[in-house]
Formats: sequence, structure tokens, C-alpha cells
Amino acid sequence: AVQNDPYITLITAEAPVTAETHGGRAKCLQRLVRLDMPVPQTVALSFAAVQDIARGQMPDIPRILGKFAATDLLCVRPSSEDPDWGGPNAVLNIGMNDARYDELSGTMGQDAAAALYLRFVQIYAIHVARLDPDVFDDVSDDGPAGLSAILRAYEDETDEVFPQDPGEQLVAVLRSMARAWDGTTARLLRKAKGAPEEAGLGLVIQRMIPGVGQGECGSGVLQLVDPVTGLPQVNGRYLSQSQGRDALGAGASALFLEKDERGPSLEELAPDAFADLKAHAALMREKLREEMQVEFVIQNGEVRILDGVRTPRSPRAGVRIAVRLAEDGIIPQQEAVMRVDAHSLNELMHRQVRPGAARDVLTTGIGASPGAATGRIVFTAAEAQASAARGEPCILVRRETSPEDVRGMHAAVAVLTEKGGMTSHAAVIGRGLGLPCIVGASGMRFQTRKKILTAPDGRDFRTGDILTIDGSSGQVLAGEPEMLEAALDDSFQTLMRWADAARDIGIRANADTPEDAEAARKFDAQGIGLCRTEHMFFEPGRLTMMREMIFAQTPQGRAAVLERLLPMQRDDFTQLFRIMQGQPVCIRLFDPPLHEFLPTTRTGQRELAEALDLPVSDVERRVEAMSEYNPMLGLRGVRLGVTVPEIYDMQARAIFEATLDASEEGAPVVPEVMIPLVSAKREVELVKSRIDAVAAAVAAERRCEFDYRLGVMVETPRACLRADEIAPHVSFLSFGTNDLTQMTYGLSRDDAGRFMSAYVQKGVFPEDPFHVLDTEGVGELLWLGVERARGECPGLTLSVCGEHGGNPESIAFCRAAGFDYVSCSPYRVPVARLAAAQLAI
Ligand code: PEP
Ligand code: MG
Repeated sequence: AVQNDPYITLITAEAPVTAETHGGRAKCLQRLVRLDMPVPQTVALSFAAVQDIARGQMPDIPRILGKFAATDLLCVRPSSEDPDWGGPNAVLNIGMNDARYDELSGTMGQDAAAALYLRFVQIYAIHVARLDPDVFDDVSDDGPAGLSAILRAYEDETDEVFPQDPGEQLVAVLRSMARAWDGTTARLLRKAKGAPEEAGLGLVIQRMIPGVGQGECGSGVLQLVDPVTGLPQVNGRYLSQSQGRDALGAGASALFLEKDERGPSLEELAPDAFADLKAHAALMREKLREEMQVEFVIQNGEVRILDGVRTPRSPRAGVRIAVRLAEDGIIPQQEAVMRVDAHSLNELMHRQVRPGAARDVLTTGIGASPGAATGRIVFTAAEAQASAARGEPCILVRRETSPEDVRGMHAAVAVLTEKGGMTSHAAVIGRGLGLPCIVGASGMRFQTRKKILTAPDGRDFRTGDILTIDGSSGQVLAGEPEMLEAALDDSFQTLMRWADAARDIGIRANADTPEDAEAARKFDAQGIGLCRTEHMFFEPGRLTMMREMIFAQTPQGRAAVLERLLPMQRDDFTQLFRIMQGQPVCIRLFDPPLHEFLPTTRTGQRELAEALDLPVSDVERRVEAMSEYNPMLGLRGVRLGVTVPEIYDMQARAIFEATLDASEEGAPVVPEVMIPLVSAKREVELVKSRIDAVAAAVAAERRCEFDYRLGVMVETPRACLRADEIAPHVSFLSFGTNDLTQMTYGLSRDDAGRFMSAYVQKGVFPEDPFHVLDTEGVGELLWLGVERARGECPGLTLSVCGEHGGNPESIAFCRAAGFDYVSCSPYRVPVARLAAAQLAI
């Protein structure tokens, strides 16, 4: 029975080898054998065989040795199901002993033979006999002298001579490798890479091609693309008279493969071998349907292929490789779409620190908006603007940001805050602007008044010092590491086109400004899903007007100021409509509590008193009177719409007049008007009747009809529960999962950053729920909302516009729950498009 068991299998074209029984390496070697590549004789041990070995039950060793010539040296390598899961170190040159050493000294020279033996003894001593590596510290010689010294050291430590019998050597190697797989470190390492608890290990025993000896001998790796850019380019290293991965080690003497002016190359040294290698790599790419790295040995001028592994690649190389494979007809387009990790697109959209560049990491905070940027530190929005005016890139450092900092954020190349989490102010605005941003960097000391930022290691940074913010990793770096530019190149565009063809859920962008809208178009969003209009009131000239409006004592006084704001808002909307060229634009009416617009500092209040011609004490009193204990649950959103209706009246008028203006010049615009923070049907009825009245008035004044769609933001738990009675009043519902998460957990989105990492670390939350949608709790409310709304109005448009809309896992949920589209920051639109396509394929 053992004869036919895949337990011990000589790898031939027909052998019953699978990745699930023998591991990925064994399976790949079989594919190479089928392609007639010069692969040395290889025997595969199945997962079951290796498991038995770990338990002390040895396979038939003479039978294994019988598959090789008596003079062969062997090497054993791990073969886990997924090569990424790792495995124990390879052991080379098994079979070396005193007798083989004498023989080989005759054929390949004493130094080469000694090198083989010495390497084996060293690996064996450390990984098999488990001796302390320090034991060999004094053995500095190589060659025959080093060999004698190492054999002596082995004997001294173990009181035994080095095992001479190849069978005994192989048994010991197999046992130690099998057991290493069960060790705690190995388990943890592979678990971190996604391996299941019971992942198996296979082993491959291969005839050793020494890589040392007469003629041109050596070893190396070769691939056909640049691992950072993915562009076609022969890449790799080769080292004469070497084996294993020596060529990749510190060995500065390794050769380039292709002719290279920086140094000698294999192409010049052994042109035929080089040409063979390239042909093998190209064949592997075509037949294994993947860009492969070839591990090879050259023995006396002849090429042998030891292995092929998936070429390691940066995210941008990943896109180019997948697209080129499809363009070359090697894989279908949809498979190319599936092969790119959606999260990894984030790195293409922005400049980033070049992989492998030296990093002087000061601390790690929450990477709230990806990309990297270098600039001089500034501590205030005003300094940021001054710096931008001088054309000097700057990094805005604040304890936290507030709407007053938005102008400074526009001027900065990156933002760093001490406080906050994924949906705090700096994070949301940073993502909207495509600005690298780190929040919650509480490892550093922020003395923003004194203008000193202190790293955990005690280094101080002051205004003008250079920092780099890596918003992808959350790392704050000193100085200026080497950068890689964004890569929205043709392969990216092609991949996106293929993704869109497969996708079945809409993707819109959250966009507040003309720049956002331009970005939304650049990334091919299908419209604007959320325009947060309050951001428009923070423009320099408008803030004072806004404050005047807030301070107005009577509705008439308020209306007079709003009259002055109207043309500005109309202009904002006209611009958005023009840029979006007929695509839907969903405008949310004013949402935040009014006191967010009031100055908090004494100076600010004095300036306001001056501007409004009031005593400072009056201003202080009013600011004080308007403050709320819990502003996020206070007078904001539709509650303002109900109690101070003039603001919404003005906004509705601006939207409708802009609609008519923009429709005159281009595609007819059908604006979407959205009411925030609704919790009761009556709120909708009240606001709706006023907006309808404004629409009728504008149509009458302009003698021109137009359509508009009214919708409600569902972002309170009650609105989800009562979605059935809200739905009949509106054309769409957009679920605001930021506030909904905040209110479902009773967890402040602006304060959670302080303890979120502890909560995730301790497993209270599997992830930050402001980042990845809590499908169990918040998700159940979404399901209920969808079910109840559609139960009443089956054709109602439903969407999600919280930050979760750009998160691939959350998009999977939204698609399953039946949402028509999700809307996210413009810079996350491509990630969302790709993730959505992958769900549909
Ligand atoms: C939300 O609450 O999910 C939302 C989109 O609105 P905002 O983030 O502006 O509160
Ligand atoms: Mg909200």
C-alpha cells in the first residue's frame, strides 16, 4: 500500500501531488517538471508523512535514498500549503561526510568541498543538534582549516563525532524540520499571515546541485519585472561559487543578471545560461499564469531550476503585473481584477515612502489618511498659510483640529494631531483633501503654544524642522526619506475600467469643495453622495457673516445676513453642478451645532466684538449661553432646520437657483437635497413643506420648472427603527454610519481615539467601528432600516455615506444588505470600485 501512497512521492509529471497534500512548493516543482524544466530529482513528503515524523514515526528512509544516486548530496526544504506561511529553514548538503569530502576534494577542489561540508555542519549544529550559535563564533577560517575547527567544536559540544551516515543525517534533519513547524513561534508567525490552526507542512527532498566546483558555477534568483514598479526589467542577483540564497545576502560581490554599467553581469559571464534562464522565466510566467521569481543554480555552465515562487511585489507592481498578464492573454480580465488587493490601491493613489528606504520613526499614531509627505513643522493654521504662500511645504501640527483649522489644512501637505480617531475632524477633512494625516499620535508631547513637539525618545522638534508624515502606516518620521510618486498610470486606469464593468453597486464621492468634486471626477465617482455644506461657511469672508447671523436677535436680522450669504452659496452649488456635468449631486443641509462657528479664544472673541460692534462681555455671554453639554446630541442637524428654519430656506433657494443656472449651460441638473440627523417623521414633514415652498417660489420667479429629489439622512437609531414612516415622504435615504455608530455604541467619535487602540488590543472590539462597519450591531440597525423602508417604498434609493463607504469589508455588507450605492472620500473611490467589483465577480 505504501508503494502507491502519496506519502513519499517522486515528483514526476504524473505523480499525485497537490498543494493541499504536499504543499505549494511541491506542487510548483511538479508544474516545472511538466514544463520540462531542468529541475533536479525531487521527492515530496506529504503533510501526513511530516506529521508522523514529528510524532517520531519515520518514513522508509532507504526507500527515499533509493530515489537518488548514492553520490548525490541532498537538500530539504519546507512546502507549506501557501508559500507565504513560511516554514523551517532549508538544510543544504545533506550527505556530506569525511569520505564525500575526500572524494569531492579530488573533483572540485579542497576549498569548494570544505565549503559544502562546513555549511552543512553549521546548519546541522544549529538547527538540528540545537547548539548555541555562539559555539562557532571563534571559527573564523573557511577552507579545510575552518572545517576541522568546526568539526572539533561540534565534538566538544556534543561529545559525539559528527554523524557520518547520510541516512542518519536525513532522519535527524527531517525530524527537526517537522518539529519546528509545531513550535509556538512558527504557529504565531503563520497565523499572523492567515494560516489556519491545523495548516500542514510538506517537505521536499531535492538532489543538491552544489553551485561550486569547476567551470562557471553559482546560484541566484531571476525575475522579469522590477519589484517596485512592475515594469518589464530583468531583475535579480547571481553569485559565482555559491549556493542557497547566498547571492541575496550581504554579498556585495553578487553580479547583476543583465548587462549593467554599475558592474559585471551574468549576461556577460555566461550568455547562454542567461538566455536559457530568461526563456525559463518567460515560460513559467505563461504557463503558471503568474509573474515568477526563478531560483536557479548554474553548474559548470548549465542551468538548473530549483524552484519558482510568486515574484514579491509592491502594490503598484501588483497592479501592473496583473494587467499585463491579462493584456498578454495569460489570464482573463476578471481574474486580474481579483488578483489586486483593494486596500493596496491606497498606496498607488498617493506619494509614499519608498519601500525599503531608511525610516527614522519617532512614533506611530493612527494613520487616518494615507500617503506620505515631507514638510516643515508649523503649529497654527496661519503659519501654514504663510508657509504655503512662500511655496514651502509644511506639516500642520495641532493637538486636534477644529473647523478654524481647515484653511491651514488646505495650505499644509500633511497634518499631525495628538488626539482623535478615524472619524475625528482632522481625519475626515484630511481624507477629503487627499492629505496624509496621522491622528491620535499621543506618544509625542504636543506643546503647541510653546511650539515644541517632543518625540518619545526626547528629541524636540520646533517650527521649521522637517518631518515626514506617513499616513498609510501611521508613522511620524524625522527628516525626509526617499519617496515614490503616485501611480495613476495606464495600468491603473485599465484595471479600474475592468472593475467597473463587473461591479453592481454604485460608488459616489463625498465632496464639499470644487477641488473635491474635481477629484471625484478624476476617480470616476458616479456623482456626489454627500456634500457637507457647513464647510462652505468656514471660508475667510464668510465666517464673520456666519457669526453675525448666529448673533442676530430677530428672524428679520437673521434673514438679512442670510440674504448676503445666498449668492455665495448659489455660487458654490453652481460650481459643483458644473464640475459634475449632470451627474447626481446630493447636498446635505447645514448639520453642525452653531457654536462651532464661534471663537473660543479671548482674542477671537475680542475680534468678533469689534466686527459686530458689540461689547466683549456681550459676545462672551452669548458664546457661553450657546455652549452645550453634549453638542453632538444637541441643537444640530434637522433640529436647527425646525427651530431656525431660515438657514435651510436660504440653502434650498441657493440650490434651486444654482440648478436653473447650471441647467441653462449644460446637462439638466436634478439636485438631491438631504436633511441630516432626523429622528422623527414630523421633522421631515416640517422641513419638507418649507423646501417645497421655496422650490415653488423659485420656479415662479424664474418662470422655469425643475425637478429635485428630497432625502433624509438616517443616522440616529430611531430613524432606522422608524424608516417605514419616514420613507413615504422622501425619494431617498442615505445612512450616515458615522453618527449611527457613535449613537449605537454611545461612543463619541471625537474622543474614542484615546482608548480605541486599547479596546482593539484587548479584543473588546475586533476593529475600530468607525473604520470598519460593526456589521453585528450597527449593521442590524441598517438591515432593519432597509427592510422597513423598502417594505413601505420598494423603489426607494438607499445608500451609505459614512466613512465606511470606502472600506472593502463594509462595502461587502452594504451590497448584501441591498444598498444602491455607497459614498466615500474621493481618494477612496478607486478602492471602493475595485472592492465592489471583486464582490460581484
Ligand atoms: C455620518 O454621520 O455618517 C455622516 C456621513 O455625516 P457626518 O460625518 O458629517 O456627521
Ligand atoms: Mg452625521
